[in-house]
Amino acid sequence: MGSPVTLHSRPAEIALAAWSIVKGLAVTLRNALRPSVTRDYPARRTALHPRFRGKLGHKRAEDGRPRCTACMACEKVCPTLAIREIEGDEAKGRERRVRTYVWDASRCLFCNLCVEACPFDAIELGQEYSIVGDSREQTCFDLEDLLEPAGKGESR
Ligand code: SF4
Ligand code: SF4
Repeated sequence: MGSPVTLHSRPAEIALAAWSIVKGLAVTLRNALRPSVTRDYPARRTALHPRFRGKLGHKRAEDGRPRCTACMACEKVCPTLAIREIEGDEAKGRERRVRTYVWDASRCLFCNLCVEACPFDAIELGQEYSIVGDSREQTCFDLEDLLEPAGKGESR
């Protein structure tokens, strides 16, 4: 023989259902009175932690040229092959300047290894995080997209 099934009387069932409704409404009311946690994005953005790592950016030197010398150290250290197509101009050594550079945000782990490996302090992971796209191509940024605006490097 199995264990006996507990049967509630009709009034007890009604009282139980009513109590469940009251408990549910109490939860609704409690949350309705809490301050809103949503924001009018993108018009209003949440302040980020200073060490937040977002879109990769190329810095400019005081003379306005990119700091990057196309040494490829960042490409070699990147564990996910997110950096590619680095080419420099005809100059040699420290005088060489990057001409082409592609960073694929969809592959990036934001691990910062590329920044730490760069011997010229030429790149950084900034605060920009609106870097999504509908396709792989839209998450790839070239040097023009990554280079900071002219004039900004002079203030460093
Ligand atoms: S942050 Fe890490 S994963 Fe992203 S590009 Fe740099 S090395 Fe590669
Ligand atoms: S960003 Fe730095 S590590 Fe990467 S190619 Fe340029 S100079 Fe070299």
